[in-house]
Amino acid sequence: MQKARIYVANWKMNMHLDSGLQFANDCKALMNDNENTEKQGSPFSQNGAKKHIILCPTFPAIYPIAQLLQNVPISIGAQNCSEHEIGAYTGEVSAQSLSEIGCSYCIIGHSERRKYFHETNEVIARKVVKLFASTINPIICIGETAQDHKDNKTLEVLEHQLNPIIKAINEAEQFPETVIFAYEPVWAIGTGKTPNNETLHATFNWLAAHLTRNIKNIKVIYLLYGGSVDEHTALEMVKVQNIDGFLIGGASLDFQKFKNIVSLA
Ligand code: PEP
Repeated sequence: MQKARIYVANWKMNMHLDSGLQFANDCKALMNDNENTEKQGSPFSQNGAKKHIILCPTFPAIYPIAQLLQNVPISIGAQNCSEHEIGAYTGEVSAQSLSEIGCSYCIIGHSERRKYFHETNEVIARKVVKLFASTINPIICIGETAQDHKDNKTLEVLEHQLNPIIKAINEAEQFPETVIFAYEPVWAIGTGKTPNNETLHATFNWLAAHLTRNIKNIKVIYLLYGGSVDEHTALEMVKVQNIDGFLIGGASLDFQKFKNIVSLA
């Protein structure tokens, strides 16, 4: 099976409803214009490689954007969900609610959630299970800090972050056909710094081997890179084996920049 290349726009707490809708409308026009656009439900393709866009707006913008993009082969994701199914958890949003308003993906374990909201690997593992049960594909973020990177501890940290998550995936009663991991070095997010291709090559080879060896029930694993992706860095990184796409923060706030990444890389 040829994998699609995936482009996730993580808008974080940016973009108000009007700018989010405008961006989604621009994406819709891009899909309509693209002469390679395939039938409903397929990502558009270019030079034989299918491309799949996933927009991740803020919670309140999810439903209107999902409505706007009905019948358009662009997916909608959330940026977080609750580890609980239902109940007295003021301010939380369940995976089931996200599914009902048109989400088919959800970013979890982003380093900003780990840092500011103290999310642990165990909490993230529970979220994975809740998402699976609501037929939402998690986009699971992992990555080492600048200090870990300096200490040459990247793979050790990744393995530690992945352990409870892999266990939860293997024990889940319900699970999807594919799962997405996003490797995001914390020191690369929003800084303009990126690992070189040699380092990325080693990390992604390790990730692909580790996940394939240890995840028993899901055969198709996508690996994304995130951290200061722009049209220049993406064009270089796309050459790295086992990078199946990108998780894009800052550059996904500007439609032209996002479009350039999607069409060039
Ligand atoms: C992110 O926060 O997930 C991210 C990748 O941000 P940026 O592209 O701005 O580095």
